Amino acid sequence: MSEDNINNITIANLIYGDGVISDENKNSRKYFESFYKKRDTSHGEEYTRIAPSPTGELHSGALYMAMIDEIISSKNRGKFILRIEDTDSAREIVGARDRMEKYFKYFDIKIDESYVSGGEHGPYIQSERVDIYSAFIYDFMIRGYAYPCFMTREELDKMREEQTINKVRPGVYGKYAKSRDLSLDEIKNKINNGDKYVIRLRSGGDFDKKIKFTDEVMGDLELSENDEDFIIAKNDGVPTYHLAHLVDDYLMGITFVIRANEWVASITKHLELWTKLGVKPPKYGHLMPINKKDGNSIRKLSKRKDPEASVEYFIKEGYTVQAVKAYLMRLANPSFDDWWMNRVKECEASKSVKLDYKDYEFKFDELKRNSRGPLMDFDKLNNMSADVIACMSASEVYDNVLEWSMSYDVELNNVLINNKDYALNILNIEREGENKRKDIKKWSDVREQIFYFFDELYEADSTELNYDESVKSKIRGILSNEIHYNHNDTSIDEKDSLEKWMSFMKEEFNKLNLDPSFAKASEGVIKFGEFMMIIRRLITKRERTPNLFYILKVMGKERVMGRVK
Ligand code: GLU
Repeated sequence: MSEDNINNITIANLIYGDGVISDENKNSRKYFESFYKKRDTSHGEEYTRIAPSPTGELHSGALYMAMIDEIISSKNRGKFILRIEDTDSAREIVGARDRMEKYFKYFDIKIDESYVSGGEHGPYIQSERVDIYSAFIYDFMIRGYAYPCFMTREELDKMREEQTINKVRPGVYGKYAKSRDLSLDEIKNKINNGDKYVIRLRSGGDFDKKIKFTDEVMGDLELSENDEDFIIAKNDGVPTYHLAHLVDDYLMGITFVIRANEWVASITKHLELWTKLGVKPPKYGHLMPINKKDGNSIRKLSKRKDPEASVEYFIKEGYTVQAVKAYLMRLANPSFDDWWMNRVKECEASKSVKLDYKDYEFKFDELKRNSRGPLMDFDKLNNMSADVIACMSASEVYDNVLEWSMSYDVELNNVLINNKDYALNILNIEREGENKRKDIKKWSDVREQIFYFFDELYEADSTELNYDESVKSKIRGILSNEIHYNHNDTSIDEKDSLEKWMSFMKEEFNKLNLDPSFAKASEGVIKFGEFMMIIRRLITKRERTPNLFYILKVMGKERVMGRVK
């Protein structure tokens, strides 16, 4: 063993304790490598993972990535893993971790291994894997690939200042890496002295050398080698993202890393770590972030500014899982749009066609074309969501609204529970024919679309109706006729009865119009449409509703008369 080797081992033992990390203690890199089973990749299996940090709520971009991960792994008979990256305990939000898991479940993302479902490659929470990272850092240290760095905050600030003045790249590399070549005695003294230190990689790279790297999404890249002695363990011994995620990807047998393109800036660091590990890196696909229009510019969805950056927003608003996922699929695959539109047509034409984004065949190639990043467009999402709901049966809508309102609109929930059959009839309005209603885009729209059917909700609505009593009494007379309510006669189909009803209403209108007192009291209503609008407003307090004919029929005479009293 050379003197260098001996020194490296001495330093590593100084830091981790003599003999603490050793094959005998089952704390070594070797031990962990043999402990975790190698993944079967003999048939091109792909193993993917999503690795959120619980420092915030689950980002919509993470759901987008998870969908792609799930598709890649399931298409290739692999596994999809959820790993919680919680090494930044200071910024961790209580409960965020469990909500992430819950939201993936809510959005029907099939996760094969996680801290909840378990698996052979756990623990799946980084804070429970610190001994594993230590084993790898120790291994790096004894091989001379890592060293303790004692540079203080002041020294680092001074270094940055100097780099700025000299207009050179910032960072700890080359001559700036002050602790890199400390002697064994110097290190011993500092450690015994209680000086604080981090562990840095001893980079062997040359910034002037270019390496070629092929990203599965971004294509061929030519990048400068890493030469930075970046930190792999902080002064509390906790590893940084760079080291921890890579050790995890290695031991968990990840073959395909899909992650946000902000990490492409670190890829040369990671490639150097793989080289030093002596292991072939997985495939990487760096995805463009979801963008949004902000005035005239386009920017990344921001958790600070945009509620929709968090998946929670879609749950609270009551968007269907189908719609959100179809929408995200469209962001990943532009050709999804045409497929979807055809599917909507088919489903509108036939009840037996289900509108399910999962029937679409994902095309990985199309991710690549999106060089500027997908753009969030709420009009499009709302339209797609309305399509999904229009293709549901009344009872599916009822069940979904019931579930959503349990958490987000308790009053509506009670009304729906207490009036199930009535609610089903209401939700069935314009659901069967060719022109399906598309006024419900999300479950939070339902209250506005159906409130007027329920006395308590109708009364609680503050819209003012200032119609002259004589107008109301005329309308009351008209609405008391059975023609509005008795359509259960099976000898005539609905179209016939709708036509009959329309001609009845026209006749009534004509009669009224000859009546000068009505014209005066209704401030000169002279058109049939205006007359119908008065009735619509009286009954619903709204001007845009489904066809009045169906509303009256479902509402029944008693309630209708109550509205115009
Ligand atoms: N914890 C990292 C993040 O949330 C994961 C990045 C990765 O996928 O490697 O950004």
